[in-house]
Amino acid sequence: MTDYLEHKNLANQQIAPEKAAKIADGVHRTLDRVAQAAQAAGRDASEVTLLAATKTRDVGEIMAALRAGIRVIGENRPQEVQIKAEALRRGASSEGIDFGFHLIGQLQTNKINKVLPLVDTIESVDSAAQAQKIATRALARGKHLNLFLEVNESGEESKSGCDPDRAYDEALAIAALDGVTLTGLMTIGAHVDDEAIIRKGFTHLRELRERLLADGGAALSSCRDLSMGMTQDMALAVDEGSTIVRVGTGIFGARAFI
Ligand SMILES: *Cc1c(COP(=O)(O)O)cnc(C)c1O
Repeated sequence: MTDYLEHKNLANQQIAPEKAAKIADGVHRTLDRVAQAAQAAGRDASEVTLLAATKTRDVGEIMAALRAGIRVIGENRPQEVQIKAEALRRGASSEGIDFGFHLIGQLQTNKINKVLPLVDTIESVDSAAQAQKIATRALARGKHLNLFLEVNESGEESKSGCDPDRAYDEALAIAALDGVTLTGLMTIGAHVDDEAIIRKGFTHLRELRERLLADGGAALSSCRDLSMGMTQDMALAVDEGSTIVRVGTGIFGARAFI
């Protein structure tokens, strides 16, 4: 799975101008798609943030996306965060670009301390127990972190995230922790052709957020983001209220590595 870490230099900063132009085009086209989906859903395009899913992309490719208007990126693997974070921070700040850095893939306990200083948000938290481990380490470092609870709405075994039946209680417990703020919920759409099935998962996540906001009081009042929708299913997700769509292929093209 991570073979590409040996085959591709993810720290590379120089890319061909043609490649940069292609990525800029991908960003603009994806922003147009988001705006169209928002309009079709009767929503304002400004309610939806386009997060660039940057796994397998090098620093030069990601900088091209930032220059084209991307302001939030998401990495899957702690190792990739470590390889790229410093060069991205330096490159972006020298160009006056401020961006959010999310982790959107699984995080093992022994990697928490490594990614903590480098990201501002972890979207892939699957339990209050894991959130507690992150919160303890965040408090020890005096760093505040935003967390999303990832919910496995499709029930597919290959997917991470907590069981939908447990999500309400896990979210309440995470919101009660010091050192972290629960700012949203995340899910990966079902890997099926039937749009009704994909939509059902997104609807359920939105309803969960409404319930948490209605029942949860002050601690839950910041749990507003819904991170759902990728290249294939983002129009459906925006129609169901997504506030963050995570797009890789639509911006950067097909991945050479999985
Ligand atoms: C890769 C990835 C995405 C983006 O997928 P695309 O189909 O390339 O748009 C979004 N979310 C997560 C968690 C991912 O791993």
